[in-house]
Amino acid sequence: MMMDADVVAASPATVYRILKDAGRLGPKFAPPTKKGRGFAQPNHPHRDWHIDFSHIRVGGIFYHLCSILDGYSRYIVAWELREYMRDLDAQIVVQKGREAFPHARPRLISDNGSHFVSREFRSFLKMCQFEQVRTSPGYPQSNGKKERWYASLKQECLRPGVPLTFDDAQRLIGEYVQYYNTVRLHAAIGYVTPADRLHQIDDLIHRQRDEKLEAARERRRLARQAERANQPTSRSYSQRSSSTIDFATLRREVSMRDVLAALGGLEAYQGWGAQKRGPCPIHRQPDDGKRHRSFSVNLDRGIYRCFHPECQAQGNVLDLWAACHGMELPEAARDLAERFAPHLIPSPN
Ligand SMILES: [Zn+2]
Repeated sequence: MMMDADVVAASPATVYRILKDAGRLGPKFAPPTKKGRGFAQPNHPHRDWHIDFSHIRVGGIFYHLCSILDGYSRYIVAWELREYMRDLDAQIVVQKGREAFPHARPRLISDNGSHFVSREFRSFLKMCQFEQVRTSPGYPQSNGKKERWYASLKQECLRPGVPLTFDDAQRLIGEYVQYYNTVRLHAAIGYVTPADRLHQIDDLIHRQRDEKLEAARERRRLARQAERANQPTSRSYSQRSSSTIDFATLRREVSMRDVLAALGGLEAYQGWGAQKRGPCPIHRQPDDGKRHRSFSVNLDRGIYRCFHPECQAQGNVLDLWAACHGMELPEAARDLAERFAPHLIPSPN
């Protein structure tokens, strides 16, 4: 999280060593994984939705938490805290998932509980055009992912939160699902959020982290060099690099909101939170009156990706500016700085 927010740039191995030396590594939480054994992992979002019930004790009464988890991203698609565990309760949760993602046609994976086997539930799924896959109780691939989700929910939300009423529990779970989907970095998907993976920007985030680590390594190398030459360290580096604009600083200071607005309008972009979809400013779209939304952008993270098969552009604010104006990166950096961050432009001498 600190790396994504440009606070520090240190490799996972370094962070691990520092925490270990300081005695700050807690007991290992992850259960032994049986992930993926003998099962083809889903290769895109909304291929597999796993649905099931878990039991939650609130003020001495057991309620049933029904939730749907997307197998590719671990995103919690829909959930409901219910008094009963009937096929109708499951249908309500599936319906919530459909409303959240109207274009999804996943396989719905469940166990053989009577509520999932009933004729009503099956005909409801048929109407939704969802394929149903029912699995045996020992199905490891499905179990591991859901166990992980419920273990986190219980350990990080319900146990410390101690809900006393149904409403209380509902509020706590709602807040936790939001946090789980969009803030918490998930170890099993490469330390991105389920939302990042659902929107398929996880590879971009990894690339950005690699670039930051590489830049930090270079800064340290120069600092050591300067130290050996017996110069004051940090100053000598900033003087040395002052003939060009530092790309990392520029990316940090220029917001994706401003760049998209300058490229012709942020209004065209729809979606929730920081994640938006809209027309691609890089490739030309036919003027057919349709709402084009191949371009996916995260305003907070400052990264974008175009899903049009012939475009597939991706990157950060600087890449976007360069691509839209047909410039090389140094030229685009200068142009972008002149417009949005003039203080970053080095003085001629
Ligand atoms: Zn495009």
